[in-house]
Amino acid sequence: MESEVQVQQASESVKLISGLEIDESVAVSMEIVEEELKWSRARIEMLETQMQMLAKDVGETTRFVTIARAVGEWKARTCAYNDKGICRAWRVGDDLANDPRLSPLIEKVNGVYRFRIDRDPTICALCPLYRAKK
Ligand code: SF4
Repeated sequence: MESEVQVQQASESVKLISGLEIDESVAVSMEIVEEELKWSRARIEMLETQMQMLAKDVGETTRFVTIARAVGEWKARTCAYNDKGICRAWRVGDDLANDPRLSPLIEKVNGVYRFRIDRDPTICALCPLYRAKK
Protein backbone atom coordinates (compact mmCIF):
# COMPACT_ATOMS: atom_id res chain seq x y z
CA MET A 1 0.00 0.00 0.00
CA GLU A 2 2.72 2.38 1.00
CA SER A 3 4.77 1.56 -2.13
CA GLU A 4 1.74 2.20 -4.35
CA VAL A 5 1.44 5.69 -2.88
CA GLN A 6 5.15 6.29 -3.50
CA VAL A 7 4.84 5.15 -7.14
CA GLN A 8 1.82 7.38 -7.64
CA GLN A 9 3.67 10.40 -6.12
CA ALA A 10 6.71 9.68 -8.27
CA SER A 11 4.70 9.44 -11.45
CA GLU A 12 2.96 12.74 -10.64
CA SER A 13 6.32 14.47 -10.25
CA VAL A 14 7.70 13.05 -13.52
CA LYS A 15 7.09 15.25 -16.53
CA LEU A 16 7.57 13.92 -20.01
CA ILE A 17 9.70 16.14 -22.22
CA SER A 18 9.91 15.70 -25.95
CA GLY A 19 13.23 15.49 -27.80
CA LEU A 20 12.49 18.86 -29.44
CA GLU A 21 12.05 20.52 -26.01
CA ILE A 22 15.36 19.02 -24.88
CA ASP A 23 17.09 20.35 -28.02
CA GLU A 24 15.62 23.84 -27.43
CA SER A 25 16.64 23.77 -23.77
CA VAL A 26 20.21 22.73 -24.65
CA ALA A 27 20.37 25.40 -27.37
CA VAL A 28 19.30 28.10 -24.87
CA SER A 29 21.86 26.86 -22.33
CA MET A 30 24.59 26.90 -25.00
CA GLU A 31 23.69 30.48 -25.95
CA ILE A 32 23.97 31.53 -22.29
CA VAL A 33 27.35 29.77 -21.93
CA GLU A 34 28.64 31.34 -25.18
CA GLU A 35 27.50 34.78 -24.04
CA GLU A 36 29.24 34.34 -20.69
CA LEU A 37 32.38 33.13 -22.45
CA LYS A 38 32.34 36.23 -24.63
CA TRP A 39 32.07 38.43 -21.52
CA SER A 40 34.84 36.50 -19.78
CA ARG A 41 37.15 36.90 -22.80
CA ALA A 42 36.43 40.64 -22.91
CA ARG A 43 37.18 40.97 -19.18
CA ILE A 44 40.42 38.97 -19.51
CA GLU A 45 41.55 41.20 -22.40
CA MET A 46 40.72 44.29 -20.32
CA LEU A 47 42.69 42.89 -17.35
CA GLU A 48 45.65 42.11 -19.64
CA THR A 49 45.66 45.71 -20.86
CA GLN A 50 45.52 47.01 -17.28
CA MET A 51 48.36 44.68 -16.24
CA GLN A 52 50.52 45.97 -19.13
CA MET A 53 49.83 49.58 -18.12
CA LEU A 54 50.62 48.76 -14.48
CA ALA A 55 53.87 47.02 -15.45
CA LYS A 56 54.85 50.12 -17.46
CA ASP A 57 54.05 52.41 -14.50
CA VAL A 58 56.05 50.19 -12.10
CA GLY A 59 59.00 50.23 -14.53
CA GLU A 60 58.93 54.04 -14.74
CA THR A 61 58.58 54.40 -10.95
CA THR A 62 61.47 52.01 -10.35
CA ARG A 63 63.64 53.98 -12.77
CA PHE A 64 62.71 57.27 -11.04
CA VAL A 65 63.46 55.85 -7.57
CA THR A 66 66.81 54.44 -8.74
CA ILE A 67 67.86 57.81 -10.15
CA ALA A 68 66.58 59.70 -7.07
CA ARG A 69 68.50 57.34 -4.79
CA ALA A 70 71.74 57.83 -6.76
CA VAL A 71 71.36 61.64 -6.73
CA GLY A 72 70.40 61.54 -3.04
CA GLU A 73 73.44 59.45 -2.10
CA TRP A 74 75.74 61.92 -3.83
CA LYS A 75 74.06 64.95 -2.21
CA ALA A 76 74.09 63.29 1.23
CA ARG A 77 77.82 62.52 0.88
CA THR A 78 78.73 66.05 -0.19
CA CYS A 79 76.29 68.22 1.79
CA ALA A 80 77.60 70.49 4.55
CA TYR A 81 74.49 69.78 6.66
CA ASN A 82 75.17 66.04 6.89
CA ASP A 83 76.37 65.45 10.43
CA LYS A 84 77.23 61.77 10.77
CA GLY A 85 74.09 60.69 8.92
CA ILE A 86 71.78 63.28 10.47
CA CYS A 87 70.62 66.33 8.55
CA ARG A 88 71.14 69.53 10.56
CA ALA A 89 69.22 71.75 8.13
CA TRP A 90 65.70 70.39 8.47
CA ARG A 91 63.60 70.57 11.61
CA VAL A 92 60.90 67.96 11.22
CA GLY A 93 57.44 68.71 12.59
CA ASP A 94 55.68 66.48 15.10
CA ASP A 95 53.12 65.41 12.51
CA LEU A 96 55.79 63.96 10.20
CA ALA A 97 57.82 62.56 13.09
CA ASN A 98 54.78 60.64 14.29
CA ASP A 99 53.81 59.38 10.84
CA PRO A 100 54.55 55.63 10.97
CA ARG A 101 55.73 55.70 7.33
CA LEU A 102 58.41 58.28 8.13
CA SER A 103 59.22 57.74 11.81
CA PRO A 104 61.99 55.15 11.10
CA LEU A 105 63.79 57.92 9.16
CA ILE A 106 63.53 60.50 11.95
CA GLU A 107 65.43 60.89 15.19
CA LYS A 108 65.12 63.37 18.05
CA VAL A 109 68.43 65.18 18.62
CA ASN A 110 68.62 67.70 21.50
CA GLY A 111 64.83 68.03 21.47
CA VAL A 112 64.53 68.53 17.69
CA TYR A 113 63.32 65.94 15.19
CA ARG A 114 65.87 65.44 12.37
CA PHE A 115 66.05 63.33 9.24
CA ARG A 116 68.30 60.25 9.35
CA ILE A 117 69.62 60.62 5.82
CA ASP A 118 71.93 57.67 6.33
CA ARG A 119 68.81 55.49 6.45
CA ASP A 120 67.31 56.91 3.25
CA PRO A 121 69.36 59.44 1.27
CA THR A 122 66.48 59.83 -1.19
CA ILE A 123 65.40 62.71 1.10
CA CYS A 124 68.49 64.61 -0.09
CA ALA A 125 67.52 64.11 -3.75
CA LEU A 126 64.37 66.12 -3.13
CA CYS A 127 66.00 68.71 -0.88
CA PRO A 128 66.35 72.40 -1.89
CA LEU A 129 68.56 73.24 1.12
CA TYR A 130 71.64 71.41 -0.16
CA ARG A 131 74.92 73.22 0.42
CA ALA A 132 78.21 71.74 -0.78
CA LYS A 133 80.95 71.09 1.80
CA LYS A 134 83.94 73.46 1.51
S1 SF4 B 1 70.80 67.66 0.98
FE1 SF4 B 1 69.18 68.49 2.25
S2 SF4 B 1 68.42 66.77 3.42
FE2 SF4 B 1 70.40 66.17 2.61
S3 SF4 B 1 71.86 66.69 4.24
FE3 SF4 B 1 71.75 68.40 2.83
S4 SF4 B 1 70.24 69.79 3.70
FE4 SF4 B 1 69.96 67.78 4.65
